[in-house]
Amino acid sequence: MTYETKMLLRLAAPAVVVLGVGLALATMASTLSDLLKAMGGAPLFDGIGDVIALATAILAGGVYFGQMLRYWRWTEGGGDLCFVCTCLLGRERDGRFGPYRKCLGCGKNHALGRI
Ligand SMILES: [Zn+2]
Repeated sequence: MTYETKMLLRLAAPAVVVLGVGLALATMASTLSDLLKAMGGAPLFDGIGDVIALATAILAGGVYFGQMLRYWRWTEGGGDLCFVCTCLLGRERDGRFGPYRKCLGCGKNHALGRI
């Protein structure tokens, strides 16, 4: 697995997490809503699972689009790059020695020059 493949997988991970959590919530909401229907009554919120699943898919698509926009900027030479493998850097984090950013490809930490 190349560093670029790792970077692409790490860029797509937030969208996959949003989609997984949203679909789990949709399943739970649909199950709870249909609980009354299973007991012989009307469903509490008819079609709530479908609405949540659709909203989740739209949200996950937006997150994925944003990440792929970062990837596109990287292919054009933009963005903050790792000086070891030239992959994109992740979000800023606070560490023991100050703020740093982790490379999405090789995983090395890059200290930020602020004091
Ligand atoms: Zn790197």
